[in-house]
Amino acid sequence: MKIICIGRNYIDHAKELGNEIPTEPVIFMKPKSALYQAHAPFYYPEFTNELHYECELVLRICKNGKYIQERHASNYYNGITVGIDFTARDIQNELKKQGLPWEKAKAFDNSAAFGKFVDIAPGFNKKNVQFHFVKNRETVQKGNSGDMIFSFDRLVSNISQYFSLNIGDVIFTGTPAGVGECSVGDELEAFLEGNSMLKIEVK
Ligand code: ZN
Repeated sequence: MKIICIGRNYIDHAKELGNEIPTEPVIFMKPKSALYQAHAPFYYPEFTNELHYECELVLRICKNGKYIQERHASNYYNGITVGIDFTARDIQNELKKQGLPWEKAKAFDNSAAFGKFVDIAPGFNKKNVQFHFVKNRETVQKGNSGDMIFSFDRLVSNISQYFSLNIGDVIFTGTPAGVGECSVGDELEAFLEGNSMLKIEVK
């Protein structure tokens, strides 16, 4: 299983971190060991002083494929949920400055959390999927798939030019504006179309 992540897929988020608007998807990956198991304790990692949440729509791949054309891409995913791409922002900023890979900041244990997948039914409007993220009962992020720079189909097609997609792979599709810090004791909750999908307390 692969965890594929997209960076800078919303204009307002690229701007808030001072990044250029990409002309091609920014792709990175997390290993299987990054997977957070639902209801397990989530501990603040000791190597960072600036742990950020990034709430994102997550797709589930249901068919093996490579060189997938955009017009066929929707056959390759059949589930959607929301997740958190946990990021050690202080480490990422340092690595970015030095032009080094991001793994230490993005791919650590428990850095990929997501809820139960909802089946994508026929007629599902993939251009209007709403999600939001609540920290300590306050909504801090709101997103809609209609605001993504690269659509689900475009992402699946583009990723598959470089990496074979396999059944069970997941794609984090990027975060909207409003990313921020988490601290010990915070209660984090991610919602898909108003339904709570994932709840984590930072310990
Ligand atoms: Zn992200």
